[in-house]
Amino acid sequence: MDCIFCKIANGDIKTNKVYEDDKIIAFYDLEPKAPTHVLIIPKEHICCADELNESNCDIVSHIFSKIPSIAKDLSLDGYRIVNNCKENGGQTVFHLHFHLLGGTKLSGDFA
Ligand code: AMP
Ligand code: ZN
Repeated sequence: MDCIFCKIANGDIKTNKVYEDDKIIAFYDLEPKAPTHVLIIPKEHICCADELNESNCDIVSHIFSKIPSIAKDLSLDGYRIVNNCKENGGQTVFHLHFHLLGGTKLSGDFA
């Protein structure tokens, strides 16, 4: 499967990593939409939030359990977590990921 985030997860594509463990990796977004913009992905390929179910959703709590320490390492005093799901939700890379945005006072807009 030709998935750019799988290639990042398995080390075929180098990124500017901010966190990694056996299940997830966090790295800087190539086109930041905020002063600090990091993507957090599971190493396992899951297309999108719409593909989550009872058998694979533990990864989401694992990701969220690591967000406070990732945010602290990035000195974020408040942040936004975003997930775009499928094309109509604005998703462009079809491997589940959460955007972690901060470094400024973000606007209240969602779209
Ligand atoms: P989304 O639109 O929610 O699917 O977000 C995909 C994000 O991945 C965008 O913000 C892109 O800038 C980012 N992106 C795409 N390719 C790379 C890459 N090789 N390294 C880091 N970020 C990337
Ligand atoms: Zn993938």
